[in-house]
Amino acid sequence: MIPTVMPTYARIDLVFERGEGANIWTVDGRRFLDFTSGIAVNLLGHAHPYLVQKLHEQAQKLWHVSNLFRVAGQESLSRRLVDSTFADTVFFTNSGVEAWECAVKVVRKYHHETGNPQKTRFIVAGGAFHGRSTTAIAAAKSEKMVKGFGPLLDAFDQVAFDNLNELRAAITPETGAIMVEPILGEGGVRPASVEYLKALRETADEFGLLLVFDEIQTGMARTGKLFAHEWAGVTPDVMPIAKGIGGGFPVGACLATEKAAVGMTPGTHGSTFGGNPLAMAVGNAVMDVVEKPGFMEHVNRIGDLLEGRLDELVSRYPQVLELARGKGLMLGLKCAATVNSADFVTRLRENGLLTVGAADNTVRVLPPLVVAEAEVEEAIDIIDRTCRQFAQGTAS
Ligand SMILES: *Cc1c(COP(=O)(O)O)cnc(C)c1O
Repeated sequence: MIPTVMPTYARIDLVFERGEGANIWTVDGRRFLDFTSGIAVNLLGHAHPYLVQKLHEQAQKLWHVSNLFRVAGQESLSRRLVDSTFADTVFFTNSGVEAWECAVKVVRKYHHETGNPQKTRFIVAGGAFHGRSTTAIAAAKSEKMVKGFGPLLDAFDQVAFDNLNELRAAITPETGAIMVEPILGEGGVRPASVEYLKALRETADEFGLLLVFDEIQTGMARTGKLFAHEWAGVTPDVMPIAKGIGGGFPVGACLATEKAAVGMTPGTHGSTFGGNPLAMAVGNAVMDVVEKPGFMEHVNRIGDLLEGRLDELVSRYPQVLELARGKGLMLGLKCAATVNSADFVTRLRENGLLTVGAADNTVRVLPPLVVAEAEVEEAIDIIDRTCRQFAQGTAS
């Protein structure tokens, strides 16, 4: 009999009851250190007192009104996002893929409005992940995601990630935009080089394309800057974000320049739930915390500490770990060829640390940004112990 919860996930047999910061407890009282963070969603950890307070306050006043009306929280959060980024305007959504879909529509409409209606195609990167809508799986083209769901939208030309020559060679008169994650998330925490990101901006300008950075996973201070592209010193024209911005409440947003959003006029796009007062109260609260003096310094300091410790483990256990990579608190451990990263994730969990796998035999290490030094050391002890088990062959 089919489970009442549609079985699209091979779920781990753990049920959680409550969390606090980087700690989470199951219904039967077992504690885990949570370095999955709901896949980079619980930006400020579990049950952050300030977010709880702001959610409560809003819940007692007003949860939802239609986008037929002005929503004060959207006006304040969009203003803050605009003031701290390249963007001039923001569309709010409930999820990452909706923010990404909005980016697709912004690009199409831009070229339609500016006299290039033939520019309907997108160049995307191999290993990229943009979500699970039929359009987003058409972009990622991964066999397991697309099989049986066709025919899909034929609008995406995939090239190797971080390879400028291949990307330039794929540009045709029909190309409308380049869409790239500054660090592949699902694709294995693989950072694009700074030179590549800079060259994407130049290439987009040279060919009259829009540049879209999917910062759904890399955004909201995860990498130690508010958005990961800031490390490269270039800006996109359009940027979908989500995951961290709601701190666990479903919030997404599509940011765009005034130029790119030229066609997004009344009636061209919409959402029933997107940006409702409850979501905006939490999004604004997350921004309050992220903008506090010292917050970004903490992310960078703890990120350096964690990456340094992971590097030490890589050099101590070369038979288990190949390398550590990433930026800030978006880190990945690529396992050695003889170690299956999924087995490593399982053993870490058995030892009390929650992480999440990714492509390229990689374990994603995504603590909440408020993680304390002592918790990082505890996690490192668990990873150390797990490496020892694999090195001694007692883990399989
Ligand atoms: C998670 C993610 C998405 C999809 O977000 P959903 O909220 O699951 O729809 C899209 N792009 C990137 C880079 C992501 O990490």
